[in-house]
Amino acid sequence: MNEIVIISGKGGTGKTSVVASFAALAGNAVLADCDVDAADLHLVLSPTVRQREEFRCGHEAAIRQEDCIRCGACLARCRFEAVRKTDGGADEARFTIDSTDCEGCGVCVALCPAKAIDFPERLAGEWYVSETRCGPMVHARLNPGGENSGKLVSKVRETARQIAAERQRGLILIDGPPGVGCPVIASLAGVSMALIVTEPTLSGAHDMWRVIELTEHFHIPAAVCVNKWDLNPDMTEQIETEMREKRLRLVGRIRYDRAVTDAQIQGKAVVEISGAHAGEDIRAVWEKVCE
Ligand code: SF4
Ligand code: SF4
Repeated sequence: MNEIVIISGKGGTGKTSVVASFAALAGNAVLADCDVDAADLHLVLSPTVRQREEFRCGHEAAIRQEDCIRCGACLARCRFEAVRKTDGGADEARFTIDSTDCEGCGVCVALCPAKAIDFPERLAGEWYVSETRCGPMVHARLNPGGENSGKLVSKVRETARQIAAERQRGLILIDGPPGVGCPVIASLAGVSMALIVTEPTLSGAHDMWRVIELTEHFHIPAAVCVNKWDLNPDMTEQIETEMREKRLRLVGRIRYDRAVTDAQIQGKAVVEISGAHAGEDIRAVWEKVCE
């Protein structure tokens, strides 16, 4: 089974437009949207959700008021200032935990003399298995402030692999997250190839090199294409020259094209818009990736 991850190092390079177009061109791939912090592949592929699952990760503390003896030990020991004390006026003080500040370390649970603190798993988001016109898709949504997106990415990839095996599909296309952190590493682990979509700007080139270092560290074959290359031909030339000097693989350029935005508004991949120049360029990139 081949797994191709499309990453960029930074957001806004047009990576998702490339993934959606590859999905339309491949026709028989399983799709995995691993950009779980800001998923947007579903906006283009209009999935029909067939399965919805909760993603629970870490723990959060919650005080059972009826058992609390109001000793204040949790307030004194919480290093994250997640415990709130409200003055009860004539009554005794009341202790509560702000779930957005609680880091789930468990100290208060261990030290509470009345064993009055529950410590359930935290609901961090959801993941879905859907059908799209381009094939099955696994995607997810991390709750605001939800942590451990790397673990959620691994769940999305694991499910995509299961679906590919069940339906005997030989290709998984992964829409990777931006940056070089834990979710990106989880997206890259064990893939057949990483396609890095960059843009001809200083920040685009800087973040592209950071991702290239990551792929080299994990011995993952990588290739680069420059999106919206004609907005800054000199910078494009500079990026490509440096790539050649380092013997890294280039798989093409994609022109800036209003048709990309028009396609997004219509909920289509740009290769599904007839006559789109960017669509022609993405087709050429896809052929090189297939090689
Ligand atoms: S440590 Fe336990 S008993 Fe003491 S205030 Fe906190 S929750 Fe209540
Ligand atoms: S679990 Fe840790 S972070 Fe959360 S309230 Fe208790 S001591 Fe504070």
